[in-house]
Amino acid sequence: MKKLRRQTKLIATIGPSTEGEEQIEQLIKNGVDVCRLNMAHADHDWVHMISKRIRKIGTRLNRDPAIMMDVKGPEIRTGYLKTPIEIQVGDILDIIFEAQPDPPQAEGVWKIEVNYDRLSEHIKAGDTILLDNGLIPLKVIESSPKNIRCKVMQDAKLKSRRHVNLPGVETGLPSLTQKDRKDSLVGIECKHDFFALSFTRDADAIDLFRSFLKENGSDANIIAKIEDQQGVSNLGEIVSASDAIMIARGDLGIECAFEDLPIIQRKTVGVCLANGKPVIIATHLLESMIDSPVPTRAEISDVANAVNEGADCLMLSGETTTGKQPISCVNLINRIASRIESEITPGLTEELKLFRPKAKMLRSAALLSMKMKNSAVLVFTRSGDLASKLGALRPNGAPLFAFTDVEGLHRRLRLIWGIEPFLMKFREDPELTVQNAIDRLKFENWVEIGDQLVTVTNVFAGGKVVESIQIREVE
Ligand code: PEP
Repeated sequence: MKKLRRQTKLIATIGPSTEGEEQIEQLIKNGVDVCRLNMAHADHDWVHMISKRIRKIGTRLNRDPAIMMDVKGPEIRTGYLKTPIEIQVGDILDIIFEAQPDPPQAEGVWKIEVNYDRLSEHIKAGDTILLDNGLIPLKVIESSPKNIRCKVMQDAKLKSRRHVNLPGVETGLPSLTQKDRKDSLVGIECKHDFFALSFTRDADAIDLFRSFLKENGSDANIIAKIEDQQGVSNLGEIVSASDAIMIARGDLGIECAFEDLPIIQRKTVGVCLANGKPVIIATHLLESMIDSPVPTRAEISDVANAVNEGADCLMLSGETTTGKQPISCVNLINRIASRIESEITPGLTEELKLFRPKAKMLRSAALLSMKMKNSAVLVFTRSGDLASKLGALRPNGAPLFAFTDVEGLHRRLRLIWGIEPFLMKFREDPELTVQNAIDRLKFENWVEIGDQLVTVTNVFAGGKVVESIQIREVE
């Protein structure tokens, strides 16, 4: 029985360091499961080009990664600056809502534009506004429809188009912007498998996005990015409404207190496991490797912790977009994840509720497979539900082979812990389908003679379809 490279999955964000054919090939060969396109930085021509490239190389390598479009949602940014400006503690800075003058300072007051003209309605004197991923705190002195007057609390260099965060403030921005809609239409055209929605604040945001995708002919999965306090407060309803969750630690670490971040991460993973929803831990996993050839010891522990906590998937951002050694980062995740997985004591997720009888059988199948040497679980799925519930049980050490006849689902299953997906036509007779699946596993060297496959499948018995667990020895 061939072991999976790792059971925890991996997303790589594609950017200048990885967009070339050679690099995409290396990412796929080294086990990247999902390629992420970040719409904060991508234009539509690039999305078309890179999506075709990923599909073409995936087909050639017989290992199709899924593609995720990350839409920006209700994001606030500062405006364009011709050159960065040096601001100092105590400087007065006006946030304005039209293009800033050039130079952006008049009578000793900085004028900085933001792209949300109703911001002042949600801000009051005494609030904190954070620019540039939390690096530049501003204290609000006065808020009016014309401008928000602030005091600079940190010496800094402010560059063009920086992130604006408002910890604890409900901004009233729409959950799906015009830009998100236009970007998503391109993702739909390119048949992207996942759409990640930035700053998901409630279940309504997911429902609205799902309607938009459906109206435009896409059944892609929606990943809710939890990145502010509202998202954390509404986690339960967001988990129910979405197909997967991303703990977007970059923004979350600005919008919430630092020390709360590990607690939010652990609780979110727990809620997702109990509900059988895939969960992604994102951002800063190997951040120092953007420049350095080796990770910090703390980063190694962070990756190990994410694996230990039971994340389905880890996500690399800057490491693979602009980093100097993207493939080394992928291999480091491979090394750390597989090592840590080998140390986890096997045991099935107790909290996961399984309702359908066939889903309940998964627990027994997983247990059997964990108890038997050289064995794996084999399932057949059309909706993906059986495969995602099987993964959510976390049968450590047992490979989980999921066959589907639904084009696209085989890519979406790549997000789920422990699942190795296959696309294959199903036959009328379930026995033929099982045989074909075993032949395919043999042909691709996943299994060899004598291996045991704990198979969850339908059989015909007495003119009826009966659900069964069978132990199939590979012959
Ligand atoms: C994050 O904030 O951690 C994140 C993944 O979102 P983005 O990279 O889109 O800011």
